Amino acid sequence: MKRDTVAIHGGYQTDPTTKAVAVPIYQTVAYEFDSADQAAALFNLEAEGFRYSRISNPTTAVLERRVAALEGGLEALCVASGQAALTYAVQNLTDMGSNIVSIPQLYGTTYTLFAHILPAQGVTVRFAETDSAAAIEKLIDENTRAVFCESVGNPAGNICDIAALAKVAARHGVPLMVDNTVATPILLRPIEHGADIVVHSLTKFLGGHGTTLGGAIVDSGRFAWREHARRFPMFNKPDASYHGLIYADRFGPAAYIARARSVCQRTTGAVLSPFAAFQLLQGIETVALRVERHVENARRVAEFLRRDPRVAWVNYAGFADSPYHALAEKYFGGRACSILTFGVVGGFEAGKAFYDALKLFKRLVNMGDAKSLACHPASSTHRQMSADEQAKAGVRPEMIRLSVGIEHIDDIVADLDQALAATTPGAARLLAAE
Ligand code: PLP
Repeated sequence: MKRDTVAIHGGYQTDPTTKAVAVPIYQTVAYEFDSADQAAALFNLEAEGFRYSRISNPTTAVLERRVAALEGGLEALCVASGQAALTYAVQNLTDMGSNIVSIPQLYGTTYTLFAHILPAQGVTVRFAETDSAAAIEKLIDENTRAVFCESVGNPAGNICDIAALAKVAARHGVPLMVDNTVATPILLRPIEHGADIVVHSLTKFLGGHGTTLGGAIVDSGRFAWREHARRFPMFNKPDASYHGLIYADRFGPAAYIARARSVCQRTTGAVLSPFAAFQLLQGIETVALRVERHVENARRVAEFLRRDPRVAWVNYAGFADSPYHALAEKYFGGRACSILTFGVVGGFEAGKAFYDALKLFKRLVNMGDAKSLACHPASSTHRQMSADEQAKAGVRPEMIRLSVGIEHIDDIVADLDQALAATTPGAARLLAAE
């Protein structure tokens, strides 16, 4: 099935008992066992089924199958937020003394997790100078457990050459892990270009309405954990916390998600609620349509901003002279994402004044909502960083990040126009004089 159809039907068939067409919300903590033997089979991970909703839940399971199918992966684990997904995705394949290698342009909280939280737990994150495959390759060593990138950096807007990064990672026997939140599987499926693991904040475009937090880890099922047993003992040695289970033996290509569920989620518990899973499923049904409109509206906004003399610069991969245009063509078929950044003439103060004058655009730190949203990263998402760290992450002091919504384009442009007029009166007069 095409992605548009998978988004609506993937992972669910009409409930055979009730004939419910919409995915039922299984609001239950536990599931009754037929017998002690059946319970044992479930706890041994020998039988399929549910036992406790901190491990799995039938509503969430539909979401997991749907997201896995959308990304072209083997299996998925859905958890309480994008940050929980990122944390588990890394914790599942690292231990004391190991490292991962990451591109420098990251979402602010991911940067904090990588630069401060994981190192305190004995896992180092090596940040490459740029997002190029050559810069990444320089940092991979025998303790590296993954290469990490955002397919489209938030908010830098850089587009990673996934195929090139996948090649480098594969050459060194480590998986490539991609945060595909900004691009969405509608625009890009990293697994088709060689990625091994894909992570999502479902909170953004997939949920799509700014109501529900959620995250997903999707495994392609292609990484050979057994062949790389020295690097990945956690999949190849008996797990003392799970009566000696060897994940690669028991689960084969599905070992990564099985362990993420049984070890990371079961023991630390960042579980998605069944109601949240239901809401995310509702959002996903329309993701293909919404992304189409987001993308078209963003193109019109980028063109409007670029023409306007009150705007100093616009970073949008859809422009032919963007350094990322060729990659946008290669990976998105020319459809640049709907997150774009720009700077108002007049620098930081003018940027702040513009931000304060917005009326339709919501001032907040979110993206991928049906509503148009605006964020000033230097004063919010990337505030904890030093000026140097911000520059490396692609954040400028005056930068405004827009998540262009699906309202009528005329209303979106009118709001930007009035905010520009309200904040740069000199430039507005100049325009009027013309
Ligand atoms: N990844 C990216 C690219 C994000 O932009 C965000 C949040 O903005 C996250 C992950 C974290 O997602 P969540 O807010 O669902 O934890």
